[in-house]
Amino acid sequence: MFVDLRSDTVTRPCAAMREAMARAEVGDDVYGDDPTVTALEERVADMFGHEAAVFTPTGSLSNQLGLRLHVSPGGELVTDSAAHVLRAELGAAAAFSGITSRSWVAPYGVFRNADAEAIMQPDAGPYLVSTQLVCVENTHNFGGGTIQSLQELTALRDLTRSHGIGTHLDGARIWNALVATGESPREHGALFDTVSVCFSKGLGAPVGSALLGSAEAIAEARVWRKRYGAGMRQAGIVAAGALYALEHNMDRLADDHRRTHEVAVAAAQVCPDVVDPEKAPTNILPLKVSALGWDAEEFVAAARDAGVACQRVAPGVVRFVWHLDIDDAQTAHAKQVIVNLLAHKAD
Ligand SMILES: *Cc1c(COP(=O)(O)O)cnc(C)c1O
Repeated sequence: MFVDLRSDTVTRPCAAMREAMARAEVGDDVYGDDPTVTALEERVADMFGHEAAVFTPTGSLSNQLGLRLHVSPGGELVTDSAAHVLRAELGAAAAFSGITSRSWVAPYGVFRNADAEAIMQPDAGPYLVSTQLVCVENTHNFGGGTIQSLQELTALRDLTRSHGIGTHLDGARIWNALVATGESPREHGALFDTVSVCFSKGLGAPVGSALLGSAEAIAEARVWRKRYGAGMRQAGIVAAGALYALEHNMDRLADDHRRTHEVAVAAAQVCPDVVDPEKAPTNILPLKVSALGWDAEEFVAAARDAGVACQRVAPGVVRFVWHLDIDDAQTAHAKQVIVNLLAHKAD
C-alpha cells in the first residue's frame, strides 16, 4: 500500500468529474464567451456575497492579483511571517508589483487582530512606508490547518476600515474552515475586500482558483490576469471540474478532518511533544519529530520506505495532509507507520 499524504494537491479527478469536464460547454473566455467559466465565477462570488469573481489557473495568481489591487509600488502589505504569500509565492508581490512586506510571528498561524494593529502604519508620511493591506490566511497552511476566529477577523475589518487599509483573505482552504465550524461563506466574505479560493486543494479539482471582490476590482484583476499571460480560452473544461468539486466534494472534507484527528491523537499518545491534536483542527498534521530525536529528512525517508509519503516543512517538522484520495484503510496504514516510527525512536 502506498499512501500519499504530502499535500491535498495530489488528488486525481474521479471518473464522474472527468465526465463533467468532457461534457462542459465551452467558449473563448478571453472574449467572455465560456458559459462554464462564467457560471463558476458567478456561483463562487455569490456564495461569499461578493459582486464578481475571476477564474485563475493557480491560487498564487489569484492571491497576487488581489495583492496588487490593494498595494501600489513601494507600498506595504503586512501579514504573519509564515503566510503562503510571503513564504511560498517566491517573492511574487515584490517581483511583479513592487510591494514591500512586514510580518509578525504568529504561533500556529493563529491570527490575532492585536498583532496586525501593532505593526500597521497607515498614512506613515514621507519617511516611512505606509501600510495598504493586511492579508490573512484561513485555514493557515504552515500553521497546521489552523482555523481563524470570526471574532478576530471582525475586529480586523473594523480596524482596517477605520484606517482605509484593505484586507485580503488567502482562503485556499477556507472550505475546510467552513466545514469544520459550520460558519457560512457569506460571514467570511463580508470581512474581506478580496478573497482567494482554491478548487485544487481539498475539493479535488485538477486545476483552478478564483479571486472574488467588487465588480470594479475584478474588472481590473481581469486586465492584470491577461497581462500576466493567464487569459485562458476554452477554460470551461477545467472550470467544470471546479463546479463538480463544489457540488460533490465539500461535505466530505469532514472525513479528512476526522482522519487527521485520529492520527494526531495516536501520535500524541506516543509522545505529547510531537503534536497537540487540538492544534491540528482540519486536514493538516504537522509532527515535530525532532522531539524524539528524528531528523526530518530521515523521518520522511523512513516513512516512504514503509509506504507513506509526507513532507519536511520546517527544521524537525514533517507534515501529513489528508484528502479525498485517502480512505479509512489508508489512514489506518499511515497511523501504524507513524506510530511505529515515533515509538521506535522513543524506545
Ligand atoms: C496552495 C496554496 C495557495 C495557492 O497555491 P497554488 O499552488 O499556486 O495554487 C495559496 N495559499 C495557500 C495557503 C495555499 O496552501
